[in-house]
Amino acid sequence: MKQFLILAATLTATSFMTQAQEKAKHEETEFYSPVPPVVTPGASLSNAPSDAIILFDGKNLDQWVSTKDSGAAKWTLADNVITVNKSAGDIQTKNSFTDYQLHIEYRIPSNITGSGQARGNSGIFLAALPWGAGGYELQVLDNYKNTTYVNGQAGSIYKQAVPLANACGKPGEWQTYDVVWTAPRFSENGILKSMARVTVFHNGVLVQNNVTLLGDTPYIGQPSYRKHGPAPIKLQSHGDKSEPISYRNIWVRPL
Ligand code: MG
Repeated sequence: MKQFLILAATLTATSFMTQAQEKAKHEETEFYSPVPPVVTPGASLSNAPSDAIILFDGKNLDQWVSTKDSGAAKWTLADNVITVNKSAGDIQTKNSFTDYQLHIEYRIPSNITGSGQARGNSGIFLAALPWGAGGYELQVLDNYKNTTYVNGQAGSIYKQAVPLANACGKPGEWQTYDVVWTAPRFSENGILKSMARVTVFHNGVLVQNNVTLLGDTPYIGQPSYRKHGPAPIKLQSHGDKSEPISYRNIWVRPL
């Protein structure tokens, strides 16, 4: 009897719900504004969409400065690509960004030498900071048949997040990173309100899936947060002895 009553109550509730749904109109769950902007995709991923800010398209380094002295970026520009100049140090964008989508391509030289971390080491600092570890580094390294600590291999958020896959191409091939960056937020008095998050595709393969960062990415010690606002994107000139790597087709879409 008790079971029958429960069944009857359930059926009645279901019946009411169905009646309510029948009275609803499809228009009630459809809306027409704000209308998403029209964005024309590039012919391929290398070609920027119509609303992107071009950071490097092969012509010049006008969007970049040296982090040493804020003067001109002195990396080598030839054949529409830029190559790391190890004596000139890191370069970073003139403009600062908060949340964005980034596309960038890099090439490890085909004659690369070295092993472990000393083989094509560079990096993309997703928000460059003038203190501590220098920001939050997405590692660039040749890990095609080259092993190192897994939280420091290509596709890692350096010493924080192991990539979901090793998607490295061969030295000599152009490779891509596509990144969605959500910057951390801080209160006026510097209290962390929300941590940074990042999604990364490496050569089209998902390697970081909406990962939450614990802070910046130091070589030694634990990550930590310190209040900052919009920040440049920085490319690392690493001190390893291997042949310098190259970049091309860099564009960003602030979100
Ligand atoms: Mg690096």
